Amino acid sequence: CPEADHDESYQKDITLAIVKPDAFLAAHVDDIRQEILHAGLQIKAEGEFVLDKASAELFYREHKNRNFFPHLVSFMSSGPVYVMLLSGRDAIKKWRLMIGPTDPEKARKDSPLSIRARFGTDNTRNAVHGSDSHESVLREMGFFFGNYTEESRTPADACQPVTVQ
Ligand code: UDP
Repeated sequence: CPEADHDESYQKDITLAIVKPDAFLAAHVDDIRQEILHAGLQIKAEGEFVLDKASAELFYREHKNRNFFPHLVSFMSSGPVYVMLLSGRDAIKKWRLMIGPTDPEKARKDSPLSIRARFGTDNTRNAVHGSDSHESVLREMGFFFGNYTEESRTPADACQPVTVQ
């Protein structure tokens, strides 16, 4: 891979967004999609998925020892989710800012226009997910989209094969 492909700026340019079952059920997918596009991010891949319990456990495995894990897994497998691969400058940071803090109550105080402030209910039913690092993006993207298309690849991705663990 050429040197420039490892430029840190590239690593911030894609992220994974999930509209969780609460926001999906409340029909917020279209609103959230529009907000993403208005913010100048592109949607490179998208689709509706239903996670079974085992898939939800796998997706959130880093939290498996937390007391909220069973509740989280049961919520995430309770209905369809809408998953989008976003691209654009500083996509990880930009999307995290748009979604707001994990806890919607805190979001309503600190970031009232954020998606979680508007559509979230509590720490678990918080409407949306956003990857927290480039490593998470690669793992989560592989989880949902497998080998995504050549068209959606950036040079940086071509140097880092997507693996699902
Ligand atoms: N979560 C939960 N209860 C908690 C804290 C977190 O159910 O007390 C869930 C929630 O859905 C959150 C996810 O675990 O979105 C991942 O937690 P993290 O701290 O990584 O928050 P995020 O990055 O989603 O803001």
